[in-house]
Amino acid sequence: MPIVVCIVVWLVMPERSTKAVTGGRCGTRKDGASFAEPVSVKPRRQQALYWRRTGRAASLMQKNDHNGTNASPDLLAADEPAPFTLLNAASHRPILLVCDHASARFPRFLGDFGLDAETRRSHRAVDLGAAELARKLASTLGAAAVFAGYSRLVVDCNRNFHDAQAFKEYSDGVDIPGNRGLSEAQKLLRAEKIYRPYHEAVAARIARLTAAGKAPLVLAIHSFTPVYEGMTRPWEAGILWDEDDRIAAPMMDGLRRAGLVVGDNQPYSGKTRRLNYTLDQHAAAVGLPHACIEVRQDLIEHEQGVDRIATIIAGSVDALPPSVYSVSQGAVMARSRAHAIDEDTKKQKRAVKQE
Ligand SMILES: [Zn+2]
Repeated sequence: MPIVVCIVVWLVMPERSTKAVTGGRCGTRKDGASFAEPVSVKPRRQQALYWRRTGRAASLMQKNDHNGTNASPDLLAADEPAPFTLLNAASHRPILLVCDHASARFPRFLGDFGLDAETRRSHRAVDLGAAELARKLASTLGAAAVFAGYSRLVVDCNRNFHDAQAFKEYSDGVDIPGNRGLSEAQKLLRAEKIYRPYHEAVAARIARLTAAGKAPLVLAIHSFTPVYEGMTRPWEAGILWDEDDRIAAPMMDGLRRAGLVVGDNQPYSGKTRRLNYTLDQHAAAVGLPHACIEVRQDLIEHEQGVDRIATIIAGSVDALPPSVYSVSQGAVMARSRAHAIDEDTKKQKRAVKQE
């Protein structure tokens, strides 16, 4: 079965028992091309009533209405950016940087998402400074980097697609109208046009580096807001990790030696698998060395700050011993755990729907 079909089946299958999607077709056409067609979505009238009842913008209602009833509209216009950007494609260094929350861009098709301009540019939509930091790091390290091209509010590439958090309806005190009442077809459209191409780009790059003979180091670059839901965060940087601390431990030491206040699994825990999806899937599950680096946003809001933090992180990476560029012996265990967690997520989702 072609890989694209497998992925679409993965996206569609768990939803077959829900009311929102009653079925789907996928397979291979006579000309050999793969296809996937979610069949049933929430009735158009139901969608329209929802938006009218909640008083959302007419433009959003119209676009989401169209969006929810057509499996393949042009979510991204021809003149809009690609769902991901690959930087330093010619690099052979066995390091890949990934930046899931790099962009504050929304597809034009989705209108203003029911949000004001300030919210669309805020930490709710994008990891402020993370793209600049990842770019600088890629340049300093001579490593490749993959950047997601659209806001985490459109679809969060660092969440399991089946997790409700992939389409946040609320973020740090603000309702997100553009994600309210999404049909499964609307979610699948965003997955097809944005989420899947991004993850395929990450997977392809890792496959290329692995084929070159070394287990690549995968580093996720994120940033966090200094105050979240009223809580002030004291850390200047945080390293998120789970079972494999080959990178996390020396990196925390390195950042501390450079004078930073470093959170060990702060401000989030890498042991909460659902919050570290990209690394869990692409690195931890196959035993590749990895770490998630979180930097407080006020440290990287200017070029000078970006340069300083990039120099510190790059120094920690360069100091890693060659032995870390290898597959962890715990890979099988991690892979089975990742599978178990995914199954738990699906079960939780089914349980919530049954309540
Ligand atoms: Zn992030």
